[in-house]
Amino acid sequence: MRFSKTFIKTLREAPKDETAKNGALLTRAGYIHKEMAGVYDFLPLGLKVIENIKAIIRDELNKLGCEEVLMSALQNPELWEKTGRFSDSEVDVWFKTELSAGGILGLAPTHEEPLTNMLRTYISSYKDLPLYIYQFQTKFRNELRAKSGILRGREFLMKDLYSFHTSEEDLDKFYSEVEKAYGRIFDRLGIGDATFETFASGGIFSKYSHEFQTLLPVGEDTIYYNGDKSVVLNKEVLNDEVLADLKVSRDELSETTGAEVGNIFKLKFKYSEPLELKYIDDNNTQKTVYMGCYGIGVSRLMGVIAEKFADEKGLAWPESVAPFKYYLVGIGEEGIKKAEEFYEDHSEETLFDDRDLRPGEKFADSELIGIPYRVVISSKTLENGSAEVTNRKTGETKIVKLEELEK
Ligand code: ATP
Ligand code: MG
Repeated sequence: MRFSKTFIKTLREAPKDETAKNGALLTRAGYIHKEMAGVYDFLPLGLKVIENIKAIIRDELNKLGCEEVLMSALQNPELWEKTGRFSDSEVDVWFKTELSAGGILGLAPTHEEPLTNMLRTYISSYKDLPLYIYQFQTKFRNELRAKSGILRGREFLMKDLYSFHTSEEDLDKFYSEVEKAYGRIFDRLGIGDATFETFASGGIFSKYSHEFQTLLPVGEDTIYYNGDKSVVLNKEVLNDEVLADLKVSRDELSETTGAEVGNIFKLKFKYSEPLELKYIDDNNTQKTVYMGCYGIGVSRLMGVIAEKFADEKGLAWPESVAPFKYYLVGIGEEGIKKAEEFYEDHSEETLFDDRDLRPGEKFADSELIGIPYRVVISSKTLENGSAEVTNRKTGETKIVKLEELEK
């Protein structure tokens, strides 16, 4: 991408109402635009980060045999009434809207009901199971507070996976495969070391769950863990009897804060029973389908990764999610000419700062935008056929031969 050709401009200051670090930095660096509290647009750079996160998740889920769909955001209240979840007292984050022809619709905060119902059309026998179905979809939740930038949106992107099984053993087996896949996903996103699986309450959507919490100062959850991190708990369950089973006492645990980046549940019959998702087993007996569900906050992850790696100069993306690999600057006539050539060969992975600005201003923007490697080509570096390559994270600079860089 040529900087001179995009509509994006970096901002010296974040808008006054943007108090969260992720929101402020991502706005200043031109990744997102705020529509109103809890509602954001993704600009070209931001969309690339989102797509990179999605590609990693998609790759790991497809390896488990999961199949991708895209379900509607508008929801039929009849389905949700069957599970008792259309009521605002049961689910307090609904956005509801009226049809001009009369009647009311909901905007999906999650998708257990419509998917369970949809599968009634396609599942009839044990031969149709198991099934693992996921999507990347916009969810709507009327969150009371939305001051955490893209960590908590009223409209946000989620990956939601649902699994359907003939037995509890099969559900358990798949559940642990997803646990491992989540570990690989967070590793590949660069936050594996800081992300822990915690035992937590299911909140309004289920009774118990496992969460994946990324340690973060501004995280909204309070986490307790022991020395070797073999026990990690959300505060929500600290006083539960689940603690007795784990044979640890409160005093042995340290406290920290985390942002929930994913959540997995064994739903069993919670939705398949009220929505009557059944199958015929090999004895010709009708049985209810076992279910599991597995979420990942895609847009929240972008905010978590942004906050986690930011420093006083700006963003610093891990290579796996960065919108580009190289931030290219040419200095002087010769340097610019060579930079143009490099760009021709690496346009997909390069943000070429070809704007008519002083190098210092370009360097400051390269640090704010957080591309992993800044490549500077000038008449000086060209004296020995090289470029100056600076690692955004470590600040380390190396003189690299252009042919080496080609590799
Ligand atoms: P939280 O406790 O943070 O409200 P939740 O338990 O309501 O999360 P789930 O319903 O399990 O979340 O949704 C799956 C994932 O979607 C969460 O793990 C989180 O990463 C993300 N998520 C949930 N609510 C939001 C939101 N308002 N904005 C952005 N991401 C969200
Ligand atoms: Mg919630």
